[in-house]
Amino acid sequence: MQNKDTVVDTTTSKQSFNDDQLPLVVGVDLGGTQIRTAVLRGPTLLSRVSLLTGKNPSPERIIPRTYTAIQEALDKAGTTIEQIAGIGIASPGPLDSRTGVIFAPPNLPGWDHVPLRDIFTEHFHIPIFVENDANTAGLAEYMFGAGRGCNNMVYLTISTGIGGGVIIDGKILEGVSGTAGELGHMTIDWRGGRCNCGNIGCLEYIASGTSIARKANEAIHAGEGIELLTFARTMLEHSRTVPDPSALPTQGHDPATVELRFPPGETDDTSLGNESSSEQQEDDLHVNARTVALAAEAGIPLARAIIQNAAEAIGVGLVNIIHCFNPEMIILGGGVTQLGPMLMEPALRVVQERAMKVPREAVRIAQAQLGENVGLVGAGALIYYYNKQ
Ligand SMILES: [Zn+2]
Repeated sequence: MQNKDTVVDTTTSKQSFNDDQLPLVVGVDLGGTQIRTAVLRGPTLLSRVSLLTGKNPSPERIIPRTYTAIQEALDKAGTTIEQIAGIGIASPGPLDSRTGVIFAPPNLPGWDHVPLRDIFTEHFHIPIFVENDANTAGLAEYMFGAGRGCNNMVYLTISTGIGGGVIIDGKILEGVSGTAGELGHMTIDWRGGRCNCGNIGCLEYIASGTSIARKANEAIHAGEGIELLTFARTMLEHSRTVPDPSALPTQGHDPATVELRFPPGETDDTSLGNESSSEQQEDDLHVNARTVALAAEAGIPLARAIIQNAAEAIGVGLVNIIHCFNPEMIILGGGVTQLGPMLMEPALRVVQERAMKVPREAVRIAQAQLGENVGLVGAGALIYYYNKQ
């Protein structure tokens, strides 16, 4: 295995896509804080519209607004619904992709057994597909990103949570109930802490951005994080004098976005968090994963230990993925993976030390290519995927 060499950041390389023959599609990325719609041809966004969900993301409020956002995207792309081959919707799970029913996603409060596919079909009268957002991101990388031409691959996204999409023999692994590929909830530490999902010691509980922040704040509250706290305060001071110091690099084709701000006042969430808000008070300072990462880079031992622990857990997760699926590729996406060598070197060392030789030598581990639009590209890709089946 070429572990040390194979994690390459390919996000800046422009792949020449030859997808001009693909029909136009609409992608909808349904998120907890933001809904985005786009008109796409293959991986290319012709338009993009974003809509903040606000504090009450009930289906009664959100669905009509999503219709409006789709119409805005169509207008902006200079096309009409009659020219669109289908609408793909990427949604937080759990959901049943065969029936298009969304169960009760923790990220979409108020949504309980919503027959989203039928509702959209009644409105638009064109093919509608609904799929788990981690699966659609995996599908996007498989069809148009780092996994192109690779029929057995696993996509692992490490962000506020950890999700996965598994492609086996060119097909999304769904399982009998449509919940296969919940890679963030594989057990890493069977005596560990209780994850939100109910299981103990999940990868998500140990290595997500949320978990990195939780560990830092626990240490601070226990009086062990003076140096980290001082670092965070310095950053906060700095953020008051420097505009927008927080942005992680974004990637991918990114047409200007139309913002539809129905409920004003909310801001985008990012996987590593953003604590540069000038309104934030020092006395309720909550250290987030981004600060921990910066502190680790600055050499603060507690921060380094927290990142190291997450990295090793991710390494164990990769070993499990390699052993379970024998993939040709594992593609890593999500904000936490942008921490780079600080995260990847310990993770890959664990893979090298622990994974069985044959599947380890067969796998390539690579960074995702599609960047922040992966959800929209994957939603749109559902139409191409199901048309091929
Ligand atoms: Zn879990």
